[in-house]
Amino acid sequence: MTQERNWAENFTYSAERVARPQSTDELRDVIRGGGQIRAIGSRHCFNDIADTTGTLISLAELPREIEVTGDSVKFSGGLRYGDIAPVLQEHGRALANLASLPHISVAGAIATGTHGSGDKLGSLATAVRSITFVTSEGDEVVFEGTDTDFGGAPVHLGALGIVTELELATEPSYDIAQHTFDGPRWADVLSDYDAVTGLGDSVSLFTTWRDTERADQLWVKTRGNGVDERVVSRLGAVPADGARHPILGVDPIACNPQRGVKGPWFERLPHFRMDFTPSVGAELQSEFLIAREDAPAAIEAISKIAHVISPLLFVNEIRSVAASELWLDPAYGRDSVALHFTWHRDEPAVRAVLVELEAALAPFGARPHWGKVYTTPGEAVAALYPRFDDFRELRAKLDPAGRLLNEYSRRIGL
Ligand SMILES: Cc1cc2nc3c(=O)[nH]c(=O)nc-3n(C[C@H](O)[C@H](O)[C@H](O)COP(=O)(O)OP(=O)(O)OC[C@H]3O[C@@H](n4cnc5c(N)ncnc54)[C@H](O)[C@@H]3O)c2cc1C
Repeated sequence: MTQERNWAENFTYSAERVARPQSTDELRDVIRGGGQIRAIGSRHCFNDIADTTGTLISLAELPREIEVTGDSVKFSGGLRYGDIAPVLQEHGRALANLASLPHISVAGAIATGTHGSGDKLGSLATAVRSITFVTSEGDEVVFEGTDTDFGGAPVHLGALGIVTELELATEPSYDIAQHTFDGPRWADVLSDYDAVTGLGDSVSLFTTWRDTERADQLWVKTRGNGVDERVVSRLGAVPADGARHPILGVDPIACNPQRGVKGPWFERLPHFRMDFTPSVGAELQSEFLIAREDAPAAIEAISKIAHVISPLLFVNEIRSVAASELWLDPAYGRDSVALHFTWHRDEPAVRAVLVELEAALAPFGARPHWGKVYTTPGEAVAALYPRFDDFRELRAKLDPAGRLLNEYSRRIGL
């Protein structure tokens, strides 16, 4: 056993070893070596999705290849957003969106439907133009946007093969400014929710639920000039008097510049800076995506159990994600609102609270983030995805011997 752990250190992989191939030939040798296999990215998932009983395969030591051409970028499967973003910037190019941190591997992020915020911005996997797998049979399989099964490929939970190359859509580089506000009133946020999330390109609400009248903070990231002050004042929110961390009271040193100072997209879209530990560190995370139109009712349902969740909560972040056609994207087929929870790292207590939280969100068909902690039974999660059976078939075609299957994939019925 390797005894290696994930980023949050709440999970120890049961793998016998970790292979770190330095070329695709070496990767094929590892695959030919037999047994159960699974790729591991930057280990930022909070559950057993990346686990295997055999060999974990890290691509972090593959040659660092990044090719920027026209309106796309191609790069090798072990790289992180923080590796490719500065290279794109040098070429005057950008990605449409990023998650809260640049530390995560691109392959691992898209595999789980990782997202940022934005009414018009889909999950990060929606940027995929092509994705190349080496399958458990040793074959190279490329999925491109026009292929029939393409919708099943980008969000693949690590179950289709080892991603060796990705191509993402790019656009001309742009600047963004972050504006943060304290204390928007929930009643006014919920009565005009579209106006709030429409304040910028990427908007987040943060709260600890210790106060059920007002959220702690509203963060607005905008390519434009400023934020509509009429909306902000209708919410009773006030501009922050200094830099902020998503968790009020935590030193904002790890955060990208705020206070309306414009800067390049990759130093504003993520809340956290590449050279610092993101978020809290000793934490767990859960997240649930619901249809956008259900957001006011779902947020009210959370506020009713505020006393249950707040003792364990560092922060609840609320973001929007545009609908996609990617079969296992938690935003599949519906414009969504993502209800994210950063918890204290006490897993038994978090799981107990999650049972209540998930029951409160069940009427909204809440889809859990694949890479975070949830308690909903696997078959109930699978039932929330209309194309789940198609994904099951695609998986069986690419990995007929089931070498990529693990306990997680069995739980959800793959
Ligand atoms: C501090 C913090 C902040 C976060 N913020 C956000 C956020 O803003 N938005 C959000 O949606 N999520 C967020 N997450 C969750 C995170 O984005 C996901 O857990 C994501 O999957 C992490 O990628 P990873 O490479 O670390 O994944 P890992 O845990 O290493 O792997 C995840 C899955 O991807 C597969 N995989 C990885 N690499 C490959 C490959 N090369 N080929 C095939 N399969 C592969 C693995 O087998 C596994 O199934 C956050 C997590 C942390 C710890």
